[in-house]
Amino acid sequence: MGKMQLPVQKNQIIDCTFEDLTHDGNGVAKIDGYPLFIPNGLPGEKAKVKVTKLNKGYGFGKIIELYEESQYRVLPECPIYEECGGCQLQHLSYEGQLRAKEKQVRDVIQRIGKLDNVTIHSVLGMENPWRYRNKSQVPIGEREGGLIGGFYRQRTHDIIDMKECLIQVEQNDQVLLKVKEVCGKYGVKSYDEKSHKGTLRHVMARYGKATGEIMIVLITKTDELPNRKKIIEDLVNVIPNVKSIVQNINSKRTNVIFGDQTRVLWGAETISDYIGDIQFAISARSFYQVNPEQTKVLYEKALEYAELTGEETVIDAYCGIGTISLFLAQKAKKVFGVEIVPEAIEDARQNAELNKIENVEFAVGEAEVVIPNWYKQGIEADVLVVDPPRKGCDQALLDTIIEMKPKKVVYVSCNPATLARDLRILEDGGYQTLEVQPVDMFPQTMHVEVVSQMILKV
Ligand code: SAH
Repeated sequence: MGKMQLPVQKNQIIDCTFEDLTHDGNGVAKIDGYPLFIPNGLPGEKAKVKVTKLNKGYGFGKIIELYEESQYRVLPECPIYEECGGCQLQHLSYEGQLRAKEKQVRDVIQRIGKLDNVTIHSVLGMENPWRYRNKSQVPIGEREGGLIGGFYRQRTHDIIDMKECLIQVEQNDQVLLKVKEVCGKYGVKSYDEKSHKGTLRHVMARYGKATGEIMIVLITKTDELPNRKKIIEDLVNVIPNVKSIVQNINSKRTNVIFGDQTRVLWGAETISDYIGDIQFAISARSFYQVNPEQTKVLYEKALEYAELTGEETVIDAYCGIGTISLFLAQKAKKVFGVEIVPEAIEDARQNAELNKIENVEFAVGEAEVVIPNWYKQGIEADVLVVDPPRKGCDQALLDTIIEMKPKKVVYVSCNPATLARDLRILEDGGYQTLEVQPVDMFPQTMHVEVVSQMILKV
């Protein structure tokens, strides 16, 4: 076969209009149907572009001159926005971001889900879309004897030192500064990926917004931490609200942050936070939503879509520390939650007790294994809630839902593409999607959370 003819060539300079935005924040221009991805391009803008790279189905380019700016273009607030890559949308006004996310959801619901008669609402955004994140985790490195930590320069593993992150709560910025200072002072070495030597790999800070409680997690290569006692003493002194200092050990050559072993160095094993009236204990390894303000908005929508009267049995699949389960338990007869991380289920049980909620039961395991087993034992849900990770629901779980026939399915998703795929499968299995509500949990980034309501067709 001969070389395929592409409508553009490498290094060619062309005029184009950006039509769209990719999920990683690149502008998209189509040249005779061939998509070019262009960093920093916004929908509606016209530019002179140089083609930098060509693949079979798509290519890349860079802006040489911007002829026409989007009405939504703004100057990024953060001085390290371009190097960092943690945010993708700071050059787009917040209104523009919400529109882009709505379009992203609409597009996949139509293209992948092939759903026509569904109401897609506009995105519920934040009043102040900055300083919202309650969890920060940064890689640690060294420079001139001191510790640095912040983020990897885009597409590299070079660590750039960071003083503040505008989407983090200020408390987390402070914690990271103090940890670098104190650990540096006592001669803690940073871990080096190449030689697999050194001690401190990552630092995580977590903040309970409603309680002011702080957790610090030091992720180290072995269980050794030189000058441990002094470090703890200093940290407790300089960080007034610290409630828990934890060490996690990761001895592997990997870019996965956490290892399997966790131990409390000082204070409590968990910190607590509130979403609405419900209190949550959160341990180092448990998943907890990073934007509690918008989480409340999301869970209230999920509760509304569940339309509970008090008579229902509910299953909450992928329940984490039981956040959605406990929210729903207030209005349901009984809630069953299932989650794969054992520590999260321990937290979930503790959370039920903490809030004196007795009509919930939690199980550790894969949703796609546990729920089919429940079904065999006669546990059937009237309402089933799923909140899977980015890859969406396992086919075995979707099959069980279709067999079990709960009257309603409430699908919470952090990835519209897999949501659309799974909604299609459930539609083919007898469900109808009524509403899709995107919620902006992650301002300044391309991520969008969605909750949707499905009912069993009669
Ligand atoms: N509903 C929770 C957590 C959602 S995040 C909340 O809102 O806080 C998704 C959760 O799914 C994570 O806690 C993750 O550990 C869990 N998980 C991932 N794969 C799973 C599987 N196959 N079965 C059950 N839980 C799983």
